[in-house]
Formats: sequence, structure tokens, C-alpha cells
Amino acid sequence: PYLLTESDYVHQDALSYPFEERGLQFGDGVYEVIRIYGGRFYQLHDHIDRLYRSAEAIKLEVPYEKAELLEKLATLLEKNSVTTDAKLYLQVTRGSAPRDHAFPVGVGANLYAYIADLTRKTEEMKHGVSVITHEDERWQNCYIKSLNLLPNVLAKQTAKEHGAYEAILHRGERVTECSSSNVFLVKDGSVYTHPETNQILHGCVRTRVRTFCQEAGIPFVEQSFTVEDLQDADELFLTSTTSEIVPIVKVDGSAVQDGKPGDLTQKLQRAYEADAQIEHVS
Ligand code: PLP
Repeated sequence: PYLLTESDYVHQDALSYPFEERGLQFGDGVYEVIRIYGGRFYQLHDHIDRLYRSAEAIKLEVPYEKAELLEKLATLLEKNSVTTDAKLYLQVTRGSAPRDHAFPVGVGANLYAYIADLTRKTEEMKHGVSVITHEDERWQNCYIKSLNLLPNVLAKQTAKEHGAYEAILHRGERVTECSSSNVFLVKDGSVYTHPETNQILHGCVRTRVRTFCQEAGIPFVEQSFTVEDLQDADELFLTSTTSEIVPIVKVDGSAVQDGKPGDLTQKLQRAYEADAQIEHVS
């Protein structure tokens, strides 16, 4: 398989980095995960726009102009003859340089993008998942899709150790999002989720869900809710590029209503499948 770097396409096993690389030593970089269905990118422009916004926020120059990068990624798909479901991972770091916290001078960014297999989370989408709640221990700039993922990693691991799929993060009483997804609460026919502030990642699937709600006349309220509100939610669900739309049926061991995926969540799943031109999960 080929991957794309800051200068060219190379064979995946031919890529090597000096050990003094700022992504490795400082997590000094940004990334994206983009979904591929049947050999086609889904929401490519949304992801690439967010990549440039994240890079700008950390004063990092992406080594390609946006139009050129879009073209290169399309070529990467062709070069790898991707025709099935997959994901593209892309990261940009502040380059290779002797270790020093301050930005290196005259050093260009490193970029790599590769394609990996990914199958749909069919069982989770059909039956729903359990989650735990966990304090949001991250910094104040969560809208930046930064390589610094240690708090997310630790929260996800805690979830896993509790037999849960995800951790719903909260700052004090206020729910923000999950360790690698956005979270939504349904109450009396309205969908609630945290507003697009610096406290959450502005998820690409979240944006689609807002559109699906608007198209279906479902009130979409960008207003945060509390950990306590989770207890009497009508429905809960989470979204991300890799999870799509997954119903949450249990929080910290307590069932959400009857413990089955809710109707509104299922309606949004069908809207997603229509938008991405993919098959229905059940
Ligand atoms: N929130 C966090 C912390 C994430 O890492 C992700 C994606 O991986 C999301 C939300 C969902 O974003 P998207 O829908 O763009 O995949």
C-alpha cells in the first residue's frame, strides 16, 4: 500500500522518521480520520476544512494548499485501488528537529496519510451500547483535533475496563462529549447537544445530524445538559466518523428507558445511511 507524505507517495513500509520528531516527542500536530464507503470519501471537504482550521489554531502550515491536498488524496485512493469500506488517517506535525519546546526555525511540517480497513459497527448500531461517565480532564481547546490524546485514551480505557463502549465526559456537572465521539440527548422530541464552543470537537457527523434534524423538522437544540439529565433522557446516542450513529442504552449500569435503541435515533441512522448511500444496518 501507498501512503501520501509531505513530498510524495511512498510505499507504507518505506516511511521512516528520525526519533526527534515533534509529533512523537510533543504530540505537536493535528490529524483527521475520514470515512470511505465503497471506495468514495464521505464528508471529505468537512474534514479537510477542519484540518486547516486545527492547523491554523496551532500556527502550523499544512505542506499542501487545500485544493492540491484534495487532489492528492483522490489519487491515493486510486493508487491503492480502494473499492470497499475503509478509513483514511492523515496527520500533520511540526516536523523533525532537535528537541526543544519552541517551534523549530526553517523546518517544514511532516505529513502522512494512509488508508486502513474499517468495518461498520453493525452490532453496536443495531442493539446500542453501554457507556460510563467520566470527568473531562482535557485542556480548553478541544475544538482543535490535536495529536495530544492522553486524556481521551485514559477515559476510553476506563470505559473498556468497565465493559463499556465509550466514556461520556463532563466538566463538573456539564456533559461535553465522549472520548472519541459527540453525544446527544433526546427529550420530548427534541435533540440536545453541547454547542460548538472550544469545549468540544466540532464533529463532522454532528454537523450532518443537525442537517438531518432540520430536514425532518426535529428541533435541534445546541445547549449543554447535565450528568443528572442523562438519567431521564428519552434516548441517548453518540456520533463519530468511525461509529456513525450509535444508540446508548445504558449509562453507568442503568438502562436508558427500556434499554432499547430509540425511534428518533433509528430515524437519524436511516438518514445517515441515505446520505452516505450505504445499506441499512438491520
Ligand atoms: N469528539 C472527539 C473527541 C473525537 O475524537 C471525535 C472523532 O473522532 C468526534 C468527537 C467525532 O468527530 P467526527 O464526527 O468528525 O468523526
